[in-house]
Amino acid sequence: MGEMIQASCPCGYETREFCIGVGMEGPKPNPKCMVPAISRKTGKLVYRDFLKMKTPGTRTESLIFYNDPELHGNSAEGEIGFWEGFVIPATNLYCPNCKNFTMSFIEVALWD
Ligand SMILES: [Zn+2]
Repeated sequence: MGEMIQASCPCGYETREFCIGVGMEGPKPNPKCMVPAISRKTGKLVYRDFLKMKTPGTRTESLIFYNDPELHGNSAEGEIGFWEGFVIPATNLYCPNCKNFTMSFIEVALWD
């Protein structure tokens, strides 16, 4: 069971809908934890499998994950749980388009 989320910002920026959490797709044990991050190379929002990172953390050489306070605005509120220990605020997040902390993650639907 997981959720579909979508990022959206008042500037018009939107991502595609995206599944988070552990679903029934793929053989077990093959959990995936797809999480949003900002690519330092392109400045764009990307999704990566957090579990495949060699050193799980909030940032790597080329990526800053959205659980990093650097991508959170001062009044970030709410929380969306992606995985054990990987929780990000739902609002006031860094927008890769307008560079303001005005982006939100919206829960779109449940899936399984
Ligand atoms: Zn924006």
